[in-house]
Amino acid sequence: MYITKEEMIENQLKGRGIKDSKVLDAMRKIDRSLFIPDDVKEHTYKDGPLPIGGGQTISQPYIVAYMAEILKLSPKDKVLEIGTGCGYNAAVLAQLSEKIYSIEIIDWLEERARENLKKAGIENVETKQGDGYEGWPEKAPFDAIILTAAPAFIPKPLKQQLKTGGKLLAPVGKTSQRLSLITRKAENNFQEENLLLVSFVPMKGEAEK
Ligand code: SAH
Repeated sequence: MYITKEEMIENQLKGRGIKDSKVLDAMRKIDRSLFIPDDVKEHTYKDGPLPIGGGQTISQPYIVAYMAEILKLSPKDKVLEIGTGCGYNAAVLAQLSEKIYSIEIIDWLEERARENLKKAGIENVETKQGDGYEGWPEKAPFDAIILTAAPAFIPKPLKQQLKTGGKLLAPVGKTSQRLSLITRKAENNFQEENLLLVSFVPMKGEAEK
């Protein structure tokens, strides 16, 4: 059954408690079909992740909206995403904050994300190919860091690249993952809160070692 964008917003987002009008508007602005391969386009607003090739996925719309709502982004925020994938989540975040940096470990996916973002007319996302474990030191510190691939532990360099008062949101764990929200209260004070259970692809590279 074909699901429209408005149905996705009503049933999957508002129906499950997403209330932030800025997040709902961002989800309404982005055409998810521009970010998914042709063979799954008919499932564009399906209530779940979709395959984008190479064993990777585009996140479920609800999870993208939920994570954006938790981060409470401001227009002036500088955000780092680890795991660009096809660029969809970055496109949504780009509606909420003025600068999004995003790192993808698979080179052809990073190239495709760049093309997708261009097609969508989005100019405030900068991507690069690399291992997100090390973060993006040249662009740090960040107001918010979001991981869309799951490490067993939060990489230390990422915590260090948060501003004081900044938030890091990540799925943490091996098979079953908890969405974990870390707030940097002071230079050496990180507060951790566990949110819902989620299922993301595992983080590769240094995080696997
Ligand atoms: N943000 C995407 C979700 C992509 S799935 C969306 O909008 O739907 C997670 C992505 O993380 C995959 O593309 C995977 O290749 C990438 N990834 C895995 N480990 C990584 C690492 N160490 N550094 C950067 N990207 C990584």
